[in-house]
Amino acid sequence: MSEAAVEVRPLTVHTPEEIEKVKNWINTEEYKEKNFAREALVVNPAHACQPLGALMVATAFEGSLPFVHGSQGCASYFRSTFSRHYREPSAATCDAMTEDGAVFGGQANLFEAFENAYTLYKPKMMPVFTTCMPEVIGDDLTSFIRNAKQKELVPEDLPTPYANTPSFNGTHIHGYDAMLNSILKYLTEGRRIEDKCTGKLNIIPGFDGNVGNLREYKRICELMGIPYTMLADTSEVFDSGCTGTYNLYSGGTDIEEAAESINGKATISLQKYATASTMKMISSNYAGVSEVMPMPFGVKKTDEFILRLAELFGHEVPDELKAERARAVDAMTDAHQYIHGKKFAVYGDPDYVLGIISFLLEMGAHPWYVVVSRATKKIKKEIDALLESSMYGKGCTCYINKDLWHLRSLIMTDPVDGMIGDTHGKWAARDAGIPLFRVGFPMMDRVNLHRIPVVGYNGAINLLTMIVNKFLDIRDETDENQWFEMMR
Ligand code: SF4
Repeated sequence: MSEAAVEVRPLTVHTPEEIEKVKNWINTEEYKEKNFAREALVVNPAHACQPLGALMVATAFEGSLPFVHGSQGCASYFRSTFSRHYREPSAATCDAMTEDGAVFGGQANLFEAFENAYTLYKPKMMPVFTTCMPEVIGDDLTSFIRNAKQKELVPEDLPTPYANTPSFNGTHIHGYDAMLNSILKYLTEGRRIEDKCTGKLNIIPGFDGNVGNLREYKRICELMGIPYTMLADTSEVFDSGCTGTYNLYSGGTDIEEAAESINGKATISLQKYATASTMKMISSNYAGVSEVMPMPFGVKKTDEFILRLAELFGHEVPDELKAERARAVDAMTDAHQYIHGKKFAVYGDPDYVLGIISFLLEMGAHPWYVVVSRATKKIKKEIDALLESSMYGKGCTCYINKDLWHLRSLIMTDPVDGMIGDTHGKWAARDAGIPLFRVGFPMMDRVNLHRIPVVGYNGAINLLTMIVNKFLDIRDETDENQWFEMMR
């Protein structure tokens, strides 16, 4: 067939003038109004779907093989998103439901895939979660898994916690929460022993694509001499070294330690909104104190985190951490002049967004627009209260249930100096001609940012360095004065 034969003729042809006119129109107040009146359509939301969050947890335990009950395409999307963010393989298996599964139910698919996955990969645990299709047709996972075990397709004692993760209801943080709740309930069942205390802290990082953050939490605990179990630890799963040998089950929380977590001294979650149901379960079932704390972005929140650890475990704050704090305060003071008064658009998961706002307010910057694309009024109330707590939050606005196309309208009509969020904001940032500081998940178009912590005192320095140096780069590249910040 010749090339001419396959030429696609567009149904509608627009003149260059028309294209230019619309290009300019979408930057106007008039268009913004129409954009904000939009109800039925979501364009570029700042969130992913529930099962993607479930996969993060399902992979975060030792020897655990995530099992996706549903469509192969969905599983490929989750895995490729993790692979592109971490630049690591993301192992998961799927029972690849197709049209017949949608009509007759997915039990036959699950049976075959259970048997194959166990035989081939010998996991220590196989957490199961769903995509939209089995949720729409109402597949009954409880019976499917029980039947698979009765048929001896997998051993009876293989842990197979499961979570329903319909994407038409909630986001990746809800899938994370549902899967974590299910795994912990499954592993700890019957393990609570009255008066037994492991003396350990259970620390739950939440849906955090930054393995540097997880390592920072662990380092802080180690410096304070606090024994800990990180529940759902992805740090070695998604950031193992290159040794020349592929290890399917690298890292993850030890399953026995996770089971014993029910007898811990205290449990702290650092993401309130990504662990709501898990923490409810923990506060009813677990021994010891259970608490939710904000992600320790900036100095104040890090102080609160460290002081609470010191209080709970009766340990002094070590000199090393005190010195780190002093360095962070010094770095913030040194860089203050370059960020003070600048306006930012911030978007992403509620727990991350709250942390970034705290940091910006500490630096005297304005989180001018805050967008959380799937949120409740409770989340908005908390964000508004945080903005109101500082003079730098004056005039700033939080938008919930709005997407990044809404945010584009905002920054095109009332500009800001920079955006902070994941990779998906890059088009809005390009159109507005402002820098995008990549923080959150996913970050697919930069290397190693997922290894550099943004929490704790060191995280505050890292965040500050990334933001301020970019502003200095821009100034340096554009300022007529080539001696900027130098002496003749
Ligand atoms: S939204 Fe539903 S169909 Fe789409 S990738 Fe997620 S689970 Fe699959």
